[in-house]
Amino acid sequence: MADLVLVQGDITEQTVDAVVNAANSSLLGGGGVDGAIHRKGGPAILAECRDLRASRYDKGLPTGAAVATTAGNLPARWVIHTVGPVWSAHDDRSELLASCYRESLAVADELGAETVAFPAISTGVYGWPMDDGARIAVETVRAADTRVQRISFVLFGRDGYAAFEKALF
Ligand code: ADP
Repeated sequence: MADLVLVQGDITEQTVDAVVNAANSSLLGGGGVDGAIHRKGGPAILAECRDLRASRYDKGLPTGAAVATTAGNLPARWVIHTVGPVWSAHDDRSELLASCYRESLAVADELGAETVAFPAISTGVYGWPMDDGARIAVETVRAADTRVQRISFVLFGRDGYAAFEKALF
């Protein structure tokens, strides 16, 4: 069972083996976490994403899946890109959100990453309510069978931090 840690801050500044990107399926950049990672990580990340689009993921990375690239100039070694579901009030997409956390940890295990930092996937532009996103994140990583030793949740704002605190304790 990995140690779970909460951090209020910026995911791009985390010194961990792998940071998880709340990407979109194009893998070619976006706003929020994705924009920050590409801005600070530099062009090497986008170059690998383009290669992935040209090979394994010609139709884009499916929602709930995860794939790794270099972390470029970030302090981390790898970026694990995962695509969260867009929130829907009439369609329960919780299993896809859980899959993002599970698949990211599976990729981390393949890489041999021992420390991984997650943002609150889908809770920004994709509109997932923070409390529910935090609950799914914590439940899923707690249930995951992984060799990752430390999992940090990096929350940008106080509300996100408070929601994860509530979900954890
Ligand atoms: P999504 O499209 O999956 O909703 P976003 O990147 O829009 O992803 O937002 C996911 C969460 O990450 C939101 O709660 C947002 O406030 C937060 N966030 C945005 N930028 C950063 C950052 N640099 N570090 C950590 N969290 C961030």
